[in-house]
Amino acid sequence: MWRNILRNTLFGLILLSITSIGVKTFNPSDAAIPETNVRNEVNQNVVSSRMTYGRFLEYLEMGWVKQVDLYDNSRNAIVVAVSPESEDRSQTIRVEIPVGASQLIQKLKEYDVDFDAHPAENKNLWVTVASNVLLPILFVGGLFYFFQNSENFPGGSGSSPMSIGKSTARFEKRPDTGVVFNDIAGIDEAKAEFEEIVSFLKQPDKYTIVGAKIPKGILLVGPPGTGKTLLAKAIANEADVPFFSVAGSEFVEMFIGIGAARVRDLFKKASDNAPCIVFIDEIDAVGRERGAGVGGGNDEREQTLNQLLTEMDGFKENKGVIVVGATNRVDILDSALLRPGRFDRQVTVNLPDRLGRVGILKVHARNKPIGDDVSLVQLANRTPGFSGADLANLLNEAAILATRYKKTSITKNEVNEAADRIIGGIAGTPMEDNKNKRLIAYHEVGHAITGSVLKSHDEVEKITLVPRGAAKGLTWFTPDEDQSLISRSELLSRIITTLGGRAAEQVVFGTPEVTTGASSDLQQVTNLARQMVTRFGMSNIGPIALEDENNGQVFLGGTMGQEGSELAESIADRIDDQVCKIINYCEQKAIDIILDNRVVIDLAVERLLDVETLDGAEFRELVNTYTVLPDKKAPYISKFS
Ligand code: ADP
Ligand code: ZN
Repeated sequence: MWRNILRNTLFGLILLSITSIGVKTFNPSDAAIPETNVRNEVNQNVVSSRMTYGRFLEYLEMGWVKQVDLYDNSRNAIVVAVSPESEDRSQTIRVEIPVGASQLIQKLKEYDVDFDAHPAENKNLWVTVASNVLLPILFVGGLFYFFQNSENFPGGSGSSPMSIGKSTARFEKRPDTGVVFNDIAGIDEAKAEFEEIVSFLKQPDKYTIVGAKIPKGILLVGPPGTGKTLLAKAIANEADVPFFSVAGSEFVEMFIGIGAARVRDLFKKASDNAPCIVFIDEIDAVGRERGAGVGGGNDEREQTLNQLLTEMDGFKENKGVIVVGATNRVDILDSALLRPGRFDRQVTVNLPDRLGRVGILKVHARNKPIGDDVSLVQLANRTPGFSGADLANLLNEAAILATRYKKTSITKNEVNEAADRIIGGIAGTPMEDNKNKRLIAYHEVGHAITGSVLKSHDEVEKITLVPRGAAKGLTWFTPDEDQSLISRSELLSRIITTLGGRAAEQVVFGTPEVTTGASSDLQQVTNLARQMVTRFGMSNIGPIALEDENNGQVFLGGTMGQEGSELAESIADRIDDQVCKIINYCEQKAIDIILDNRVVIDLAVERLLDVETLDGAEFRELVNTYTVLPDKKAPYISKFS
């Protein structure tokens, strides 16, 4: 949570909202893709619907089914299909499979459908006990089933009892992952690293002749959706070597020893197929530091990790099994994993910068009819903090909207609507005219006016009373460049602008009438002010880092007792004191701005109530008539202590 907030506030506070209750933080990556336990490829689809088994069989026969994930011992399936009925767009559909439909797997093989079975997760004690007792019986019974179904099927079917120690890795002998390096943008260093690996896989002699050793393991580190899986797929495809992929969580089972057996099995298959790529996603699920976490270690996970370490040591000189791991939590990985000879190369994959976003948008716009009025550069400007997956999702949403509006190409309108949805949530209907609506209008215009008259604040893009997500109204600002370095004056104007909403409520309606709507504003303000003091050395306490980025987080993966340093009480008091000083100063500043600009505010509110969404340009024109707007380039300097 703390981390998210940090990221939100740092990587582009581009909208301020009034919320009814609770907290609304801006997190594009959270909003983007519904998290399910379905694999990545499936996740890309936004729509999720149901289908009968009969209909599913029809789809299968028509060759429309692209991928099937079986759950709950093949009682449920998540199906990815591309059918003319969905205008050839890929759809994710849930299918309930009737008992006795045992020929399904046979059928899937027959139609050459990519499929995988996921072992059921049983948390219930009785189920655990029962399955421990039942296992031997099932084992014998399962043999028959196993011999019938398991030949030519290296991926293993997790639902068959015999295959429980088999790796659940998906295996592609001639990987046509469809991903080429050209499809990846914005992460050039990682790409360069991987291009080298491809060249090794293609011409190993070139390297061995000069005594160069190619790394056995490469660890991709970065937030979700930045293209780690994509990179791994691209190397397999470009080098034309077999590709195994598995998620770390699939090793962690409820039966001791199974994870380790699966690792052994995976590596055996891999060395039989060398040269090849083994991709382990979410490697932190197995690779977490041993003996860490609340309540001591987890024997099963540790055994699995030990096995992984042994296997990676196993192939002394690299015969071409290259293990690619992906994680967003390198800090919790066991240090043994990072030693030479294991994952000795780390490649950081960061959220793309502005140019990176343009590149990624271009990649995903390739196969879409994009209208002339759409500027991908502008879209990239609007989306700081978006990952590659968020951007892909954005264009996908825009395409869905274009279909809904029966358009033949995607226009600016759909692109903007999609961006608004992803950042702010789905739009609701504006409320009826009443006092609350007026209060919200004042609150939003309060944000907008403070943002407009302050130097070093982003420009207003629009103000709206159309609710989105939990927010009843929103003020959008356009960040003009990547905001990885933020100055002190920018931080102060952000705080003032964020307080502008509450300040307007207070000035216009009086202190007794202020509402809970400002709660998320207040939280953001407090976070920013605290970081100014404790992390950025921007207060009277001086340039001291008193807290690190992770402070405040309940740190499950780390070593116990390492959480945050204990601050001396006197320092803690000084921090609180400085935070209050900053906030009080900014509050006063916000109130002054509201008082000074009351005429414009009233006019803007009337107009906003009328049109519900007020364009930034119109608002600026209004403000310009009554106020001399500051030169945005000149720094805003303030003293508050
Ligand atoms: P990760 O493994 O880092 O969580 P993925 O590689 O699974 O992320 O990315 C999910 C999807 O997002 C990809 O299939 C692709 O469509 C898109 N994507 C992510 N990063 C990039 C990128 N750098 N360039 C192009 N597309 C990207
Ligand atoms: Zn607000």
